[in-house]
Amino acid sequence: MKILLDEQQLSSGVERLAQAINQSYGSRPLTIIGVMTGSVVLVADLIRKLEMPLRVGVVQTSSYQGTQRGSLTIHSEMMLDVANRDVLLVDDIFDTGNTLKEVMGRIHQLGPTSIQSAVLLFKTGKQEVDLRPDFVAFDIPDEFVVGYGLDHNDAYRNLPYLACLEPSDLSTPS
Ligand code: 5GP
Ligand code: MG
Repeated sequence: MKILLDEQQLSSGVERLAQAINQSYGSRPLTIIGVMTGSVVLVADLIRKLEMPLRVGVVQTSSYQGTQRGSLTIHSEMMLDVANRDVLLVDDIFDTGNTLKEVMGRIHQLGPTSIQSAVLLFKTGKQEVDLRPDFVAFDIPDEFVVGYGLDHNDAYRNLPYLACLEPSDLSTPS
């Protein structure tokens, strides 16, 4: 496993993300919707740096089996009431962008005042949709990454750093 972003770098990135969000919304109340499960660590770190009145909810999706993409499932929407609210969708990583686009579409149907998105990681060169996240902490190369909430077959989410999985890691049972 090769470390791509260490704890210090991640912390600075989240700080930058929070500053940009604080600046953009000012004191307007905000509803955060975290895309589970990958954004669990980011949401926990990010919300403590946000200064406006805040509500926090989650939506559950999954699209990967191992490192292979499956079809996107939105399992449940433990939805807060988002009608007439400013909503910020928070996800771990923007890869093809299909997840964010799909979830944005669902939330849009619920009548928010506005909807924007924030991601920790933007994988360069993979984008399949005409949508770019409004707030991005890091652009990263096209490698499969784990840690800081991101998993491989449900492992590694608790790593405090972000690492690239190497072929030898994939053959090791977790
Ligand atoms: P997208 O729909 O943008 O292609 O994929 C977004 C979702 O796929 C992310 O929320 C994340 O759960 C998963 N994903 C994409 N790339 C990676 C990666 O490199 N590592 C991990 N662990 N998950 C990824
Ligand atoms: Mg995800």
